[in-house]
Amino acid sequence: MAFEGLTGRLQNVFSKLRGKGKVSEEDVNEAMREVRLALLEADVNFKVVKEFVAKVKEKSIGHEVMDSFTPGMVIIDIVNKELTDLMGGSQAKLEKSNKPPTVIMMVGLQGAGKTTTSGKLAKLLQKQNSRPLLVAGDIYRPAAIKQLEVLGEQIKAPVFSLGDKISPVEIAKQALQHAKDNGNDYLIVDTAGRLHIDELLMEELSQIHAEIKPDEVLLVVDAMTGQDAVNVANNFNEQLGLTGVVLTKLDGDTRGGAALSVKAVTGCPIKFVSLGEKIDALEPFHPERMASRILGMGDMLSLIEKAQLNIDTDKAKEMERKMRNAEFTFDDFLEQMDQVKKLGPLDQIMDMIPGMGKMKQSKDLKVDDKQMGRIEAIVFSMTKDEKQRPEIMDHKRRKRIAAGSGTNIAEVNRLIKQFDEMRKMMKQFSDMMGPKGPKGKAM
Ligand code: GDP
Repeated sequence: MAFEGLTGRLQNVFSKLRGKGKVSEEDVNEAMREVRLALLEADVNFKVVKEFVAKVKEKSIGHEVMDSFTPGMVIIDIVNKELTDLMGGSQAKLEKSNKPPTVIMMVGLQGAGKTTTSGKLAKLLQKQNSRPLLVAGDIYRPAAIKQLEVLGEQIKAPVFSLGDKISPVEIAKQALQHAKDNGNDYLIVDTAGRLHIDELLMEELSQIHAEIKPDEVLLVVDAMTGQDAVNVANNFNEQLGLTGVVLTKLDGDTRGGAALSVKAVTGCPIKFVSLGEKIDALEPFHPERMASRILGMGDMLSLIEKAQLNIDTDKAKEMERKMRNAEFTFDDFLEQMDQVKKLGPLDQIMDMIPGMGKMKQSKDLKVDDKQMGRIEAIVFSMTKDEKQRPEIMDHKRRKRIAAGSGTNIAEVNRLIKQFDEMRKMMKQFSDMMGPKGPKGKAM
């Protein structure tokens, strides 16, 4: 997972500070030395690191901080704010033209994830009730057109293509007209990339730019390439004028340098991040939330937003009613697992819950997608009756379930025990809450 090393090191620095009732100037200096090393090791641009550390130090060595009751916490807060500022301060939103379509030109080196990101962006816009038109403008990479068409089919978004014999400038021009004629409110133009920046590529991109006058020029860069990604961004920005950056492959174990340096070095904000190969793995970028994730403080806001986008509220209400009345069965349990899976890979979800990132490293708490698969297999091997009335599962039945699910009796026992405890807890909780909220308190 991205930032893991950086998060771990920063947490170590802060836990030392937090333990102190009084913080001396020497303590701050020592902490900042470690922060500096942690950032450099995470491949953050050295100039950016230098300025960052200087700013944090300046703000930390002041009377208000050092004389406060919780100096450690105040310093963490300063680092949090500075990290947020470093990444742009607040969310840089996608432009929306008041003369539709809003034209988005996607640029970047080959393999960065341009084509897949185009599809993901279209999907994100569809979720906001927009009608994007995708344009297959990469006529050089043999499979790019087909790839975009497949993506379009998958999300039911139209794809404009004229094959690979017509110039990309002409394709973009005709696509724009097509979007106007068909009432598409966004035009997403996938363009060609090369392995390295070269003049021919820039010339062609400039021509497309001049022809369609995009509202957004988004550079797609691979976060795994670290400072190279930042250099590429600088180059594209000088030659084309970027409006934003999309950072891909943040699901890999990138150290994070690109995410932390791109804005400071190029002046271009990160607008989206991609955290996987699946079509819904693209997220708007929020500097304050990313800072919070980097510091291991979770990101509940993003989690709630994901839930709102993906979870069926009627089902959630029904589930809540069942929990209150202790009617929760293994069928409901399966259904809940399904809903959680819609939010994305489990380890990414865990990272969004404060404190969970750290717990994840513990050996006892092995919750991963594979583990979820085993749990599902066990529940699938239960009969309808067993799912509804777990209390009837005696040793004989449990043995059958273990054999049927390819697990073992210990795993089956553990799951049933956990389920029992969960039900009891739900019951206690709902008794405590009463039908109208916490007992004795008006809500
Ligand atoms: P293009 O040459 O820039 O158009 O790149 P593609 O869109 O074809 O992507 C190159 C490869 O990167 C593909 O295998 C994608 O599935 C993969 N990819 C793109 N974005 C991500 C991401 O966020 N995470 C991961 N793990 N893979 C990605």
